[in-house]
Amino acid sequence: MAFDYDLFVIGGGSGGVRAARVAASDAGARVGLAEASRYGGTCVIRGCVPKKLMVFASEYAPALADAQAFGWQIEATGFDWPAFRGKLEAELDRLEGIYRKMLAGSGVETFDQRARLADPHTVELADGTRKTARHILIATGGWPVKPEMENADLALTSNEVFHLDALPKSLLIVGGGYIACEFAGIFNGLGTQVTQYYRGAQILRGFDDEARGLVAEEMQQAGVDLHLGTNILGMERDGSGLRVKATNGTERTFDQVLFATGRAPNTAGMGLEEAGVNLGRRGEVMVDEYSQTSVPSVYAIGDVTDRLNLTPVAIREGMAFVETVFRGNPTPVDHASVPTAIFTQPEMGTVGLSEEAAREHGPIEVYCTSFKPMHKGFAGRTDRVLMKLVVCAETRRVLGCHIVAPGAGEMIQLAGIAVKMGATKEDFDRTVAVHPTMSEEIVTMRAPVRTG
Ligand SMILES: Cc1cc2nc3c(=O)[nH]c(=O)nc-3n(C[C@H](O)[C@H](O)[C@H](O)COP(=O)(O)OP(=O)(O)OC[C@H]3O[C@@H](n4cnc5c(N)ncnc54)[C@H](O)[C@@H]3O)c2cc1C
Repeated sequence: MAFDYDLFVIGGGSGGVRAARVAASDAGARVGLAEASRYGGTCVIRGCVPKKLMVFASEYAPALADAQAFGWQIEATGFDWPAFRGKLEAELDRLEGIYRKMLAGSGVETFDQRARLADPHTVELADGTRKTARHILIATGGWPVKPEMENADLALTSNEVFHLDALPKSLLIVGGGYIACEFAGIFNGLGTQVTQYYRGAQILRGFDDEARGLVAEEMQQAGVDLHLGTNILGMERDGSGLRVKATNGTERTFDQVLFATGRAPNTAGMGLEEAGVNLGRRGEVMVDEYSQTSVPSVYAIGDVTDRLNLTPVAIREGMAFVETVFRGNPTPVDHASVPTAIFTQPEMGTVGLSEEAAREHGPIEVYCTSFKPMHKGFAGRTDRVLMKLVVCAETRRVLGCHIVAPGAGEMIQLAGIAVKMGATKEDFDRTVAVHPTMSEEIVTMRAPVRTG
């Protein structure tokens, strides 16, 4: 049967754009792609990129105070949100333009509309036209979900937070995951009074306990009013703000409320189950290690599969898909020991197993140090950083590396290479320290603080 395309991609985000581009330009495939919103997807338009730019903006407040402590005579007169937001929006427009250009330059035919699966080889666009393809790739990402409660629509999600008319004077963030914690640091740095409610016992569930404990402590020291074991019960308008009733018995009014309470895969109304594609409990597309769904001609990558929801992982999955399907080289994606950063203040960089997870696999040694770094001490701050290695007692391999420090994201990218290569504690020890740095501690920790 003759198809309109070799590949039709639904979703022009991190994973979809990469797969479409590489299939067209490197593998010579005829590729179509539909994007319902803006090219670049979550990462570029409403995720990693605008968030990181806001992190940068928010870090100038403590940096200016530090500069004064180092002898600089400067005075900050305040943060101009509309000026920043204008620049941010222009930057996102620029990046979207680059994505569009890259797709066009690779010969991908794009359709600026929503698409759904009509059958295993057919995509139906919002205008009713149908396109057939030998392979269809679902790369529709995820979407923030709000808790089911009255007036939930009054609250923001991470989608709207980049486009506020004004910087809120007070903000309640509900949630304890990395997105909630990153925004707590951002708005706190920009001068908003930040309160954070999280129903669990500690923020950043799933990450190393000691590392997330330090992040929580430092966030509180920096001014975030963090309430653990606390959830929102109800919310209503109160003048220009929102009156919030919480499980801790309080009722307070905030300028804005931000729900960072999780994300769900974008699969609703896409005709997937009707076409025979199996979905999981959360609506995620079920795939095998090659990203193939229960329908052989349909593949899925990225957040819509809810495996490891990170941009570089979606890109990897897209590349592996092209390698498997268009180059005849079956390539599974390795989801083990993926380094990642949480852009809280201080930042956390992590790769491999947490101490708690590693202990379940067998005996370990834990090397850990926490100290006041030179530049913070000099500036009169109490901030501490943490460097931690989790080592397998038998093989001596470093199973996990966890860093809480300014620049931890940059550090963990490099430490991640060693961990991925299977470096042992002795390999770390053999490496000469770079002095004076914070990360030199990662190669100078001699005695374990815990074993077992
Ligand atoms: C606030 C925030 C911060 C983040 N920070 C980081 C970070 O620091 N580092 C990191 O690695 N990851 C981060 N992420 C996660 C990262 O953004 C995602 O993992 C990544 O974007 C997933 O890529 P994707 O291609 O699967 O989906 P997406 O990038 O979400 O792209 C999916 C695209 O599909 C489109 N679409 C959906 N349905 C349809 C349809 N039916 N028809 C046509 N188009 C459709 C959407 O409009 C979207 O453009 C962050 C996410 C958020 C929300």
